[in-house]
Amino acid sequence: MASDLVIVYHRQPYEEVEENGKIVFKENKSPNGIVPTLKGFFGRVDKGAWVAWKLAEDAANPDFQRVIEIEDSYGKYSVTRLPLTPDQVSSFYHITSKEAFWPILHSFKERYNYDPVDWPTFREVNWAFAEAAAAEAAPGAAVWVHDYNLWLVPGYLRTLRPDVKISFFHHTPFPAADMFNVLPWRREIVESLLACDVIGFHIPRYAVNFVHVAQSLLEVGSVVRKDVNPDFIWEGTALSDRRVPESVLYQGRRIRISCAPVGIDWDFIQDLAASEPTREDASAIRSELGDCKLILSVGRTDYTKGGVQQLESYERLLQTHPELHGKVRLMHVSVGANRNMAAYEEIQSEIEQMAGRINGTFGSFEWQPVALISSAVPFKDLIAYYQTADICWITPLADGMNLVCKEYAAARTDGDGVLVLSEFAGAAVELSSAVITNPFSHRSMDMAIEQALAMPEEERRQRMAMMRETVKRYGIKAWAEDQMSYFTDDETLPAAQ
Ligand code: UDP
Repeated sequence: MASDLVIVYHRQPYEEVEENGKIVFKENKSPNGIVPTLKGFFGRVDKGAWVAWKLAEDAANPDFQRVIEIEDSYGKYSVTRLPLTPDQVSSFYHITSKEAFWPILHSFKERYNYDPVDWPTFREVNWAFAEAAAAEAAPGAAVWVHDYNLWLVPGYLRTLRPDVKISFFHHTPFPAADMFNVLPWRREIVESLLACDVIGFHIPRYAVNFVHVAQSLLEVGSVVRKDVNPDFIWEGTALSDRRVPESVLYQGRRIRISCAPVGIDWDFIQDLAASEPTREDASAIRSELGDCKLILSVGRTDYTKGGVQQLESYERLLQTHPELHGKVRLMHVSVGANRNMAAYEEIQSEIEQMAGRINGTFGSFEWQPVALISSAVPFKDLIAYYQTADICWITPLADGMNLVCKEYAAARTDGDGVLVLSEFAGAAVELSSAVITNPFSHRSMDMAIEQALAMPEEERRQRMAMMRETVKRYGIKAWAEDQMSYFTDDETLPAAQ
């Protein structure tokens, strides 16, 4: 049976584990993240399909079934596993996507590495995704493609299946034209994206940048713009905009541009936060801390996350405020997701060196200023740390959205706690009540953490109440509804003014 909704996402929608010599498919261990939300869409259609890749030594004769049928709490759906060889994965994912695209998307021109890119392999892998999606889609089906490593899928799919509705969501930032146009494949990528019916971004700035890039490269017709939702306008902050493109005309087709920030699962976090085990864990952490304040920082080990710059600021704080010695502790969670990649190993070792230096310089037998955690903290444990952290310190140099900061606000059912947030995280346009900081400025970083440590309780509570309201309103359900409306809503697009 063909599918009404095909989700094209590079990872499989479950974890494959071996139990008693048999492969079983289990729900992802981490209930947070985008995969469960995407699977939630299958409950709304008769039949859904998912297209992902799976490693195969011999792609022509994989030792697994290419298409499997799954029936779980999300409904019935098939999963196509595209067999990719280790060389193809390395080329398409680790090299082209992570060494060439990722630095440009996050505006790190100096880290861009063109030389090892094998563009024909990138095309070949994207073509395979498009073919698999075309094979699964019912006539007029919706095909929803995710993220930059599948940029060429919409263009190929449009050729294979002119009848389907194609939507593409970017989970990363989309940079300005003079950054994006570093990519020599820029025209091919943008032409592919313009084959979509809907192109989605987290925040207005990324949509503004995309349209500017398209206009710089191609004959794009009229652009319809609208006012930005006032909840996402914050005068003077780095990523805020007042007007946003709603649609563009290209080769006689009008393409919608959508902006909807991915949020968190509010109800799920409220339940976890209220559960007895979480309360017990939180109280154990609190009593272990004594009269020390806990500063919590959580992220992947990635140069975009600004871990080194944050530790430098913490070092300056301890230098200039000896009265804080023995009174603060930083829990710095930096999880390595991309092992064996030089850029990430370098950052990991810099972070380890910095943490070691801080502990060596300021620490004592009784007090360790930084606890560096390099392996993933289970989500339910993280909630207990969120509940006890006096400050959540999230200062990426660039970040498409950032969910940790929203999880922190959602977990603070007690209404207390301070969020210090970089103005270069997409979430900053929503969370104007956080203490906003510029991670490129020492002074701004240092003042923000000092302000957070000194903030009176009344102010903390006022700011937290506002953040909680926003995080609740723009949770994952709001995002899902917004995205779904583009698949079901055939209303005529607004004409250019
Ligand atoms: N996370 C986790 N354990 C950890 C570190 C992170 O469960 O030790 C989760 C965190 O709760 C969040 C996600 O990983 O849901 C990270 O998402 P975010 O948008 O903040 O960053 P990304 O890694 O997607 O850039």
